[in-house]
Amino acid sequence: MTVIGAFAPGRVNLIGEHTDYNLGFALPIALELGTTVTFTPDGSAAITAVSDSETASSVIPLTTAPGGVTGWGAYVAGCVWVLGEAGIAVPGGRLEVSSDVPVGAGLSSSAALECAVLLALTSAADGPVPDRIALAKLAQRAENHYVGAPTGLLDQLASLCAEPDAALLVDFQSLDLTTVPADFGDCYRLLVIDSRAPHRHADGEYAARRSVCAAAAAELGLDSLRDAAPDDWRRLVDPVQAARARHVITENARVVDAADALRASDYARFGALMNASHISMRDDFAITTDQIDLIACTAAAMGAIGARMTGGGFGGSVIALASAEAAERIIADLPTAVVDARFNEPTVRAVRPGAGAHLL
Ligand code: ADP
Ligand code: MG
Repeated sequence: MTVIGAFAPGRVNLIGEHTDYNLGFALPIALELGTTVTFTPDGSAAITAVSDSETASSVIPLTTAPGGVTGWGAYVAGCVWVLGEAGIAVPGGRLEVSSDVPVGAGLSSSAALECAVLLALTSAADGPVPDRIALAKLAQRAENHYVGAPTGLLDQLASLCAEPDAALLVDFQSLDLTTVPADFGDCYRLLVIDSRAPHRHADGEYAARRSVCAAAAAELGLDSLRDAAPDDWRRLVDPVQAARARHVITENARVVDAADALRASDYARFGALMNASHISMRDDFAITTDQIDLIACTAAAMGAIGARMTGGGFGGSVIALASAEAAERIIADLPTAVVDARFNEPTVRAVRPGAGAHLL
């Protein structure tokens, strides 16, 4: 009996927030942290999934449909469902999951799980494995329509398509992917600071930002804000629409600049763009929190050359780029400084750009 192993990493977005559904740009990396799936087909009519981070196993009939499986197994069931819809017949069997991606820390444990499952199941099915962009779309569809979480394509593209020591420049309009070298040299460290803020249900805020962006684009006579000229936000009468549009327009420009800065190993420039991105998310897009602002500001005060919230907002993580020396200071002192301000204690970890998903 063939046993199939697949690995898919978590991801962190270096810059480009809320740009995906506006058909703009983002610049994620895959992490070295990831999720491993081992699938053993057994000819049965269901997949029994177990995870080393969950006590309950999940039994997924091969004919599952949205609403059928709930809990963590919904992520796996969603993959089974989208493959069925795509005409890819998956065999039954036992599926074992193990992961070192922290859950709910904004590092996309969900995409790591979906992408590892899809890679394993498509390899076990007869017929050709869909290409990486097709797999990313299937994973997104599973998360949107089976799990019921409204997310863009960023996480899945990063997990499936990123390369080691590189960032992935994603153009969400053309879905062109460009690998940009990003090893940060010997002198710099990339830190992910998980705020560990109490979970905030931000789906309503996410939906609100999406609809304001769509309304702003319509007001400007555009299909999406991607096509807006640098000053187009000035033409918007509604101040909220203007502010949200200005974030998207300037953020897209920052992503393109940041990719150029990486290519030139100009980390000072890259850091300045990170800081500008944070201010834009705070003031124009209004998706940061007091704790997140404090973390970014404290990291900068402790010597980071760039610090910004990463992810959809309202909590989650901050990333900071710092010299090795400043990084040590941040790791040692930032958590206490945040606790002194009466917030939850954040965790700080140094990360490196890792490999995209692959079979084992
Ligand atoms: P994240 O930012 O980590 O992606 P999400 O809320 O989007 O947070 O997804 C987390 C959910 O994904 C978990 O609550 C769980 O249901 C599922 N999940 C992620 N990784 C695993 C895993 N290794 N084993 C079981 N379920 C997982
Ligand atoms: Mg997720």
